Amino acid sequence: MQVHERNIMDKTAPNASTGIINGRSSNILNWDDVRFSWAYPKYKKMLGNFWTPFEINMSNDVKQFPELTKDEQNAFLKIIGLLALLDSIQTDYAGRVADYLTDSSLNALMIILAQQEVVHNHSYSYVLSSITTKDVQDATFDFWRTEPTLEKRNDFVIKGYRDFIENPTVDHLLTSIVHDIILEGLFFYSGFAFFYHLARNQKMVASSTMINYINRDEQLHVDLFIKIYKEILNEFPEYDTKEREAQVIEIFKEAAALEVEWAREVIGDKIDGLDYEDVEDYVYFYTNVRCNQLGYERPFEGYRKNPMKWIKAYEDVDMGKTDFFEQKSRQYVKVNVEDNGFDEL
Ligand code: ZN
Ligand code: ZN
Repeated sequence: MQVHERNIMDKTAPNASTGIINGRSSNILNWDDVRFSWAYPKYKKMLGNFWTPFEINMSNDVKQFPELTKDEQNAFLKIIGLLALLDSIQTDYAGRVADYLTDSSLNALMIILAQQEVVHNHSYSYVLSSITTKDVQDATFDFWRTEPTLEKRNDFVIKGYRDFIENPTVDHLLTSIVHDIILEGLFFYSGFAFFYHLARNQKMVASSTMINYINRDEQLHVDLFIKIYKEILNEFPEYDTKEREAQVIEIFKEAAALEVEWAREVIGDKIDGLDYEDVEDYVYFYTNVRCNQLGYERPFEGYRKNPMKWIKAYEDVDMGKTDFFEQKSRQYVKVNVEDNGFDEL
């Protein structure tokens, strides 16, 4: 079945739409009259996450970057290069999915999601322009073309997106959302682990603070797409099949293999104190988590517990409540735009 684009205005349709896709919607946004009860709380959370890179004082990171080992510097740049491509295409994908959701509130959430991806990309430019030369920054933003392992991973995600864009069927939409969960909920994670490892050793704390903000946003994004996926299956149960489950598990296995290959290349045994086997287990663990969140069997036997327990403190930081970055670093990294630390250089 094809999915149809949302009507710009429909005078005879209700404000709370009649379906998540191929439904009828006036396209009016009244937060108190929307189809899904979870949309407004999600909206509040997403707005509550608002941050900009301008708030982050980079001066310590600027001093520390040249003191990192060559392998640490290489991993740092490669990972930012990877994140930059993923966030760039994510901005666009969110908009394209939004066109097919026949609910004005979900369209609104997708627009905020896309805006947050724009900020993520801004943060990579901000970090790189602070700590490296323009040439290195430009080369980093080109890694997606020049690094074969990265290219393989990206092509894998893009294929899922492209199938939907070129032929928007329900099946392709669902499968593209699986690729989205992989992009936002798995392919970022070994990169996040690397930055938290540095922060744990009091290195590049400002960059890691930004990564933490990004991580916090991505958790909301993953949850949003999981909700959309499940609502589609709920409204179109004919797509909730064992065949689809088997297909999704295969996609996740392939994604995990690509992520492990990438992590082996950039982290390997080159980063002092960060055990590559732990990162690999962490990838399998998160693959299981994501597949399970979609309502499917976990692809990897075992791997029920996070093998890098220390990372929880970094992943689960809720700025409203506490804690780690707040105490250890944010008192000096959060500053005014006018006083972003560059005068000290
Ligand atoms: Zn992002
Ligand atoms: Zn995202």
